[in-house]
Amino acid sequence: MTAPQLVPAWTDEEGAARARSLFTRAFGVEPAGVWAAPGRVNLIGEHTDYNDGLCLPVALPHRTFVAVRPTDGPRAPARTLRAVSAQEDDGPPREVDLVTVGPQGGTGTVPGWPAYVAGVAWALEQEQLATEPVPGFDIAVDSCVPFGAGLSSSAALECSVAVALDELLDLGLAGPPADPDDEGRARLAAACVRAENEVAGAPTGGMDQAASLRARDGHALLLDCRDFSIEHVPLDLAAAGLELLVIDTRAEHRLVDGQYARRRQVCEEAAALLGAASLREVADAHVHGELELDAVLARLATDEQRRRVRHVVTEIGRVRFVAQRLRQAPVLGGWALSVVGQALNDSHESLREDYEVSSRELDLAVAAARDAGAYGARMTGGGFGGSAIALVDADAVDATASAVARAFAEADLRAPSFLVATAAGPAGRVGPPRSETGRAR
Ligand code: ADP
Ligand code: MG
Repeated sequence: MTAPQLVPAWTDEEGAARARSLFTRAFGVEPAGVWAAPGRVNLIGEHTDYNDGLCLPVALPHRTFVAVRPTDGPRAPARTLRAVSAQEDDGPPREVDLVTVGPQGGTGTVPGWPAYVAGVAWALEQEQLATEPVPGFDIAVDSCVPFGAGLSSSAALECSVAVALDELLDLGLAGPPADPDDEGRARLAAACVRAENEVAGAPTGGMDQAASLRARDGHALLLDCRDFSIEHVPLDLAAAGLELLVIDTRAEHRLVDGQYARRRQVCEEAAALLGAASLREVADAHVHGELELDAVLARLATDEQRRRVRHVVTEIGRVRFVAQRLRQAPVLGGWALSVVGQALNDSHESLREDYEVSSRELDLAVAAARDAGAYGARMTGGGFGGSAIALVDADAVDATASAVARAFAEADLRAPSFLVATAAGPAGRVGPPRSETGRAR
């Protein structure tokens, strides 16, 4: 069996050219510019965000590109969004009147994928980041972020729209990628979260948008979901001769309905029983030696609560541990490498046994990667499908991917797909319009 292909990340030039050409084909004029925002993969810290916990995502080199041009003014009676995407049907542009956009389920419900775009415009107004109504605009989207793979193509779309509107409407929030304004980006991220939760109707914490807007090249993003403060933790896998292999199981998400809400609810109930504002407080007391985990668990009412709490508390501990190893040894090797690998493995076991969000495909991907020599492997993202990650020697990427693909074939499962994650930079402008470059491309 030949080694499976890795999904390539587009360069700025390639992504900008694709989005621009889709735009000109759909709308017959040049866009005002092209912006891009990355997907993300979470190194460690799963199901911690809604518990006010910590997570450690990495922005992917894989990005969503949007070519945008404002059309109607802010006071036009109908402010029309017209949107096309290379990843969706190639019919005429989808039209949404921005004047009427509102939360999912209400009269302003936006059907389908344009909700992610219209939602950002709506949220910028709601959060009063845009002081005038957002004008109508045309947008063409193209992306190399795998869809629905747990790598956050949704946040990549929202965040690319956010940085585009930030610049086009002169909101002055994002700053250039080379000199980003983190405070402004945190506000844009909050607006994107509202777009996803309220207008697209997808419940998520804030990790994805923070990674897409606030990451730094060559660093993982240590995000504290209690106050959305961040630390850029150096991560130089290439210098260590390592790669982070992402395995997209391409499995249908199953049983997702209600499972996420149920996990959140149990965590909240458990925190209330313990007299804590959130499980983060419990994790902090545990790390400071004020609480024995077993004593905490003994105070809970059900086995379900005990297992969920054990996952969240130990997972927050593992995020701290991995971040500390990376601070001390950004070029992972020797002991630090083996304990980081072990933390990834422990995270998977905890998600599988205590949090019960893994799946047959995820378990198989993790087991096959470990058998092929990975230092550590775990499911990543919310679970029930999506992707797994494996920390491997750079020269073992192909062999590991082949081993995983073989295991899937032997189990009669759909072939997985693969990409390599390097810690990339955040959302920003990637392309001037053709008229500004002064030459046709
Ligand atoms: P993930 O974020 O893990 O990829 P989600 O289900 O959260 O999966 O988001 C996927 C949805 O986001 C798609 O179904 C679509 O509605 C929207 N989306 C993401 N990227 C694009 C794109 N390039 N074009 C159109 N819609 C997109
Ligand atoms: Mg998503």
